[in-house]
Amino acid sequence: MTATVIDGKAFAARVRAQVAAHVARLRDEHGLVPGLAVVLVGEDPASQVYVRNKGTQTVEAGMQSFEHKLPADTSEADLLALIAELNADPAVHGILVQLPLPKHLDSDLAINAIDPAKDVDGFHISNVGLLGTGQKAMVPCTPLGCLMLLRDHHGSLAGLNAVVVGRSNIVGKPMAQLLLGDSCTVTIAHSRTKDLGAVCRGADILVAAVGRAEMITGDMVRPGATVIDVGINRVERNGKLRLVGDVDYASAAAVAGAITPVPGGVGPMTIACLLANTLTACCRAKGLPEPDGLTA
Ligand code: NDP
Repeated sequence: MTATVIDGKAFAARVRAQVAAHVARLRDEHGLVPGLAVVLVGEDPASQVYVRNKGTQTVEAGMQSFEHKLPADTSEADLLALIAELNADPAVHGILVQLPLPKHLDSDLAINAIDPAKDVDGFHISNVGLLGTGQKAMVPCTPLGCLMLLRDHHGSLAGLNAVVVGRSNIVGKPMAQLLLGDSCTVTIAHSRTKDLGAVCRGADILVAAVGRAEMITGDMVRPGATVIDVGINRVERNGKLRLVGDVDYASAAAVAGAITPVPGGVGPMTIACLLANTLTACCRAKGLPEPDGLTA
């Protein structure tokens, strides 16, 4: 079997177009422009690239982008003061504090200082609780993107066996909650799981969010399963730096029914979902109808 390739790049472009169309309607009909504020502390090169991409795509979708770059030695009090200012700013509908923060800053404190209604990363403890209890929440972008790809490929996910490898607060746990919300039978695997291969082979849907290059191999995949590879790992191959996922693509694609590539799978969905979440936050703040299909 050769797996169907789930094209996250194309899907993300459709999500961005849908967001842009809805934003244009908000502007025309309500004079409203959704705004996303991104806070970057320090000069981490990868974070600078992410923040630049987020800003560019926000503007391309017709929304306002507010970038706040703070020096690496910013005090906790100054960071919290900026978050309080953004919470109170009516032009800002979404706030994202780029992680990781420098070591002297408490990221939980910063995230939980964000107004939950503006928490477009979905990491605030209130949103974690709302998602966990099946209530309307702001949902973390990467798992939301995976869910959209899965719904698009399968239609209903009800009754399918889903295995999520990884239990981080950013990907693994919210992914499992979302799959449970769509009535999958969910198993969460992690570094202490016994016989990971056998657990993975039970999956109709296998989500890999481990952070270990190509560790999920074809012999761990049930024939016909859908494989979602969240991993982004930089490895050296033949003297060149390459991006690979947590799944060994060649062996897994030979067994799976469908698979996301790296790059071009889950990655592009993350910023697309950030834009979708900003639009959703704006609509909710104004009591306006939310866009279809862009939330959990
Ligand atoms: P974390 O490091 O926070 O979590 C990794 C998880 O994998 C942990 O729960 C860990 O288990 C588990 N794990 C580690 N080793 C093994 C093993 N040998 N067997 C089984 N489980 C294992 O990573 P994240 O969740 O933040 O990210 C995961 C991957 O997704 C990374 O490659 C990251 O770069 C990528 N990512 C991609 C995004 C995108 O936009 N596409 C966004 C966010 C992340 P334990 O808890 O027991 O330690």
